[in-house]
Amino acid sequence: MSKIVMKTPLVEMDGDEMTRIIWQMIKEILLEPYIELNTEYYDLGLTHRNETDDQVTVDSANATKKYGVAVKCATITPNAARMPEYNLKQMWKSPNGTIRAMLDGTVFRSPILVKGVTPYIPTWTKPITIARHAYGDVYKNTEMVVKGGSKAELCVTNADGTEERSLIHSFDGDGIIQGMHNLDSSISSFARACFNYALDLKQDIWFATKDTISKKYDHTFKDIFQEIFDNEYKEKFDEAGIEYFYTLIDDAVARVVRSEGGYIWACKNYDGDVMSDMIATAFGSLAMMTSVLVSPDGVYEYEAAHGTVQRHYYKHLKGEETSTNSVATLFAWSGALRKRGELDNTLELCDFADKLEKATIQTIEDGVMTGDLYLISKLENKKKVNTREFLEEVNLRLKDMI
Ligand code: NAP
Ligand code: MG
Repeated sequence: MSKIVMKTPLVEMDGDEMTRIIWQMIKEILLEPYIELNTEYYDLGLTHRNETDDQVTVDSANATKKYGVAVKCATITPNAARMPEYNLKQMWKSPNGTIRAMLDGTVFRSPILVKGVTPYIPTWTKPITIARHAYGDVYKNTEMVVKGGSKAELCVTNADGTEERSLIHSFDGDGIIQGMHNLDSSISSFARACFNYALDLKQDIWFATKDTISKKYDHTFKDIFQEIFDNEYKEKFDEAGIEYFYTLIDDAVARVVRSEGGYIWACKNYDGDVMSDMIATAFGSLAMMTSVLVSPDGVYEYEAAHGTVQRHYYKHLKGEETSTNSVATLFAWSGALRKRGELDNTLELCDFADKLEKATIQTIEDGVMTGDLYLISKLENKKKVNTREFLEEVNLRLKDMI
């Protein structure tokens, strides 16, 4: 059998700890036997980020802009404990944050559904994808504690030096205030990323804010979405037979719970933070979520939604057996390979990605799974396997399909 040839390189961002081990295993067991892997490799492992003063992260994001598709392994975001562990020059920023800022992206997360693992909400028979705006609002706020007897105002100094003021509150007693912002350009990028992704998946997209209460702030989100939709996307949506639907955030929450899934839910930054954890938990597990960063100009970065699984890595270092779930990392690879195949018109690559995902789901539905799923699966004849055995079991099924 001849291996699949890739026309354009895929940007490969290696990472840390247990996911770095899994990364190697996936390549060795499931990819290299079938594909002439053509990747531009960037080592985002913490040691190498430290050696390059984090330049490697910037380089990898630039390469992603150049080639259009990347696959990223989970990486450590250093905290105080990591400083001595890796002998760091400084507490480097989150690579995900750096890459997200450079690609100006929106993060889309969807659960991977398998028989035996039932959502806590039984009507959810199709995945719900969360699209989270990743700029501004409360994540870039300014807060103050104020004393009784003070008066708080919003003050904007215009470019010509004139001032506009608006009273927030006259405080009789002690209290608190908070200022936050967003940018029309960022909201527009978010809207376009959402509409493009909906067309890609051929799924409806819902968006919700609290515009009845926040008549300027949230209303601006609503207006920008509507204007971009009407001017740029309405016809394409009609052709694809999908819908854009706006509602209030409280109405959206009620509708989501009553729904059967199968749509994308676009959320403002804070709503997306909270709701993506709710959706992931309700569907079963973070290790069974896909995650992709999509930029408004159509650049894609595929990753796992979970971290580097540190606790399992320390067991692995001690020579103990691990049973770490590789599904999210596997789907990051299949997602990136499929997208590369679509952009290059390499249909064998898309077909391979489909089969790899099918083989993975088949393995779990046959009852062969890692420890995390073994705990929650309702299948009767289930068997717990270790990290490597799981990938070998996937390969047995993949071989049959190919
Ligand atoms: P984590 O790696 O997500 O793991 C937390 C716990 O969740 C694990 O100990 C494990 O539970 C379970 N878990 C997560 N992924 C799993 C998998 N694939 N298979 C089986 N169980 C899984 O979070 P963390 O340990 O708090 O963070 C470790 C490092 O990851 C940190 O340095 C953080 O900065 C980084 N991080 C990176 C990303 C990213 O790059 N995308 C995202 C988040 C965190 P049990 O121990 O109970 O088995
Ligand atoms: Mg959160």
